[in-house]
Amino acid sequence: MDFNYTDTQLEIREAVGKLCAEFGNEYWRNCEIEGSYPEKFVQAMTDAGWLAALIPQEYGGSGLGVMEGCVILEEVNHSGGNGAACHAQMYTMASILNHGSDEQKQRILPRVADGSLRLQAFGVTEPDAGSNTLQIKTFAQKVNGGYVINGQKIWTSRYMQSHMYVLITRTTPVQEVKKKTDGLTLFVVDIAKAGKSLKARPIRTMLNHHTNEVFIENLEVSDEDRIGEEGQGFRYLVDTLNSERLLVASESLGDGKWFIDQASRYASERVVFDRPIGRNQGIQFPISKAHMNLTAAELMRNKAATLYDAGVPSANETSIAKYLATEASWEAAEACMTTFGGYGVATEYNVERKWKEARLFRTAPLSNNLILAQVAQHALGMPRSY
Ligand SMILES: Cc1cc2nc3c(=O)[nH]c(=O)nc-3n(C[C@H](O)[C@H](O)[C@H](O)COP(=O)(O)OP(=O)(O)OC[C@H]3O[C@@H](n4cnc5c(N)ncnc54)[C@H](O)[C@@H]3O)c2cc1C
Repeated sequence: MDFNYTDTQLEIREAVGKLCAEFGNEYWRNCEIEGSYPEKFVQAMTDAGWLAALIPQEYGGSGLGVMEGCVILEEVNHSGGNGAACHAQMYTMASILNHGSDEQKQRILPRVADGSLRLQAFGVTEPDAGSNTLQIKTFAQKVNGGYVINGQKIWTSRYMQSHMYVLITRTTPVQEVKKKTDGLTLFVVDIAKAGKSLKARPIRTMLNHHTNEVFIENLEVSDEDRIGEEGQGFRYLVDTLNSERLLVASESLGDGKWFIDQASRYASERVVFDRPIGRNQGIQFPISKAHMNLTAAELMRNKAATLYDAGVPSANETSIAKYLATEASWEAAEACMTTFGGYGVATEYNVERKWKEARLFRTAPLSNNLILAQVAQHALGMPRSY
């Protein structure tokens, strides 16, 4: 059991920190005020090779593990930035890497690695199915040489900033399969090629998150666009989403550390009633508590990511890490908001921006309620509740 980060991980932390220092709070605040995508930051991350960290060297990436990916995104959020702008470029490609054909890997991965192809959207959620992915209705009808897809997705983030995206569909209706997890199929879709058969409408949200409704009408894809075997898409999806959970847990840890830095500094400086507010235990203790919970969540994240990289089944550990990190981060966000008093809601202090970002991760991807339900069932053997 080794609790230390490796030299490589420490070097990554330092290098990513340096890059992020060029994109300070003002940059992120302006992106939010304008509602603009942080294009310069994403390009800098791409140019530095960080978004290709998990792609094997034979396809032009660095061949690092998920643990290193976690360190990268944690550092982005710890700096005050928002890794959600580009995190999917890291994990969406995993469905192709792990389950795609050799032709797909050769055609797509080197371009994802050099940044000429953005594959950073994943169309899973649908309006009527919500958290119950097995009830999705988007349907891919088999035709000669390919499929014709019809349906609707919601919350497809970074679709407008992607050249291709990964889409999950049903190829057998849920009523006709033995196991509900059967009959789902993944496709990699070329957005420009799709033309008018894909229509996207941005959803305005409380935070600067570029997410969309996507309407799919008679979208023609070829057999070569299918990822892996027909009907096995759910299995591939779960596998990809496990790495997503670890990366999101890491962004939450980074957010949490940012809140603790800000709150402890401000609490030591701000004088009210002739003393620093941090001398009041009502201010001090919530910050300490959140710091301790973040420290525990970090250990769990490290364990889950280490198991994942070793190829050991770790769905429970991954879910627990996502839950603990996002809850601890939210606790830190609340403590920070309280510490800043009225200034917490003033945009120039950045607390409200990070507070909104921290809240999202309790809901997406995968709501924490669903994690509690899964842990009850899979780790504790209780009856399935969902
Ligand atoms: C900003 C944003 C970006 C997103 N990006 C993407 C994306 O890129 N791609 C994508 O596919 N999806 C994306 N999502 C969707 C996200 O994963 C879902 O919002 C999330 O999984 C919850 O689904 P829902 O919103 O339909 O909530 P619902 O399923 O309608 O649930 C509503 C509430 O009820 C709770 N609930 C439901 N059933 C149960 C139960 N059985 N037990 C206990 N509680 C329950 C849920 O936990 C939740 O709190 C995004 C969402 C947001 C808000």
